[in-house]
Amino acid sequence: MDPKDLKFFEELLHRRLQELLSNAGETVSGMTEQKENFPDPTDRATLESDRNFMLRIRDREYKLINKVKKALDRIENGTFGICEKCGEDISIERLKARPVTTQCIDCKTKEEAFEKALGI
Ligand SMILES: [Zn+2]
Repeated sequence: MDPKDLKFFEELLHRRLQELLSNAGETVSGMTEQKENFPDPTDRATLESDRNFMLRIRDREYKLINKVKKALDRIENGTFGICEKCGEDISIERLKARPVTTQCIDCKTKEEAFEKALGI
């Protein structure tokens, strides 16, 4: 990949990581702020489902943070933008739309078709 493009994605991913990390921090402080006593069971139920919702978001954020970190690792070790399935270059357009992707569109399409066929 062109070093200029690589630099572009490195900066993009770093920004994304910072965003995600600061969002994750906000979710945590949001959760601790809610640590109040609600004597009403209905309120407590609402609080619980809010908490579950937060945890689900946290889980998603956590996974995404990991993906972004892995993409940055790939930039570091020179495998960024190379499909992990077939070893071909992933198109710049695809990477711009989804910088954390590890597969070219052909392999991804095949995989999705396969998963669909299996009913995953
Ligand atoms: Zn591929």
